[in-house]
Amino acid sequence: MNGQLGVIYMLHFDRPYRHARHYVGWTDDLLHRFDRHAKGHGARLVAVIWQAGIGFTVVRICEGTRHTERAIKNAGGAVRYCPACTSHPRNGRWTALTGEFTPRTYLNLAGRR
Ligand SMILES: [Zn+2]
Repeated sequence: MNGQLGVIYMLHFDRPYRHARHYVGWTDDLLHRFDRHAKGHGARLVAVIWQAGIGFTVVRICEGTRHTERAIKNAGGAVRYCPACTSHPRNGRWTALTGEFTPRTYLNLAGRR
């Protein structure tokens, strides 16, 4: 299954949770995955930030396998690749950003009290 093509995505949190400000994941069903994240399911870190009232924005996506996801995670320093954090994000293992991608924000209403 490691060679299966899917989508790698980067979530930029509305505000940092401890030292975490980003999450990189892989899915073969993008919209379903974000729906689950936005209901507090899915990856542990994302469930935790959602419970803390923190929303997130999908800032980057690219096609790839879990191998690519692993390489991106191992490269670390998500800030350098995040278009929400830096005006000239690097690409690294990510596919270059194009104007066709619109970042999508998932507001966490519990955090807006
Ligand atoms: Zn960021």
